[in-house]
Amino acid sequence: MKEMIIATKNKGKAKEFVRIFEPMGFQVKTLADFPELEDVEETGTSFEENATLKAETISKQLGKMVIADDSGLVVDALDGEPGIYSARYAGEVKNDEANMDKLLDKMKGMDHRSARFYCALAVASPAFHTFTVHGTCEGSILHERRGTNGFGYDPIFFVEAIGKAMAELMPDEKNQLSHRAKAIKKLEDQISAL
Ligand code: IMP
Repeated sequence: MKEMIIATKNKGKAKEFVRIFEPMGFQVKTLADFPELEDVEETGTSFEENATLKAETISKQLGKMVIADDSGLVVDALDGEPGIYSARYAGEVKNDEANMDKLLDKMKGMDHRSARFYCALAVASPAFHTFTVHGTCEGSILHERRGTNGFGYDPIFFVEAIGKAMAELMPDEKNQLSHRAKAIKKLEDQISAL
């Protein structure tokens, strides 16, 4: 059986990959199966660079095909902030509430609130050159929190296509339109073409 390693310890993310790639004949493993591996530092300057760095480092260590992701929120009026710094926007310790407070504060009085979630996926393997795909989800930044589902910036992100905050969507709804779901769909097409 072909093996595919997803460079994450996050069970929710892993599930999205299992749902698509197991029916294609892959045995999907995650970093939870390789506890000896150290975290890869994200020193790149773009989502693509960070995903590639992670996928290539782990692929070299294991000699296997590895998929890594990097994602975040891009706000137009803030020149792309928080971008690759989304997880730790308000400080070194990851804190979703503090991140949302900082963003809402910075955007006080701003009318132009367009934004998007961005997800880059990199695939590295000893058998071929690394490639990347990406997916986006367009929306805008709300003035206050709405909804309790999801994680990260979901309560302050209004999804234009559906007219609700991301945190008001059920997990299945979010999985239809999220940046990550769209990137995984593109990957499915590329991998079946390999
Ligand atoms: P990571 O790439 O999963 O580490 O995500 C980086 C950061 O981007 C997260 O900690 C969140 O702050 C933000 N982020 C990424 N995807 C989402 C999402 O689907 N909803 C809300 N926030 C997200």
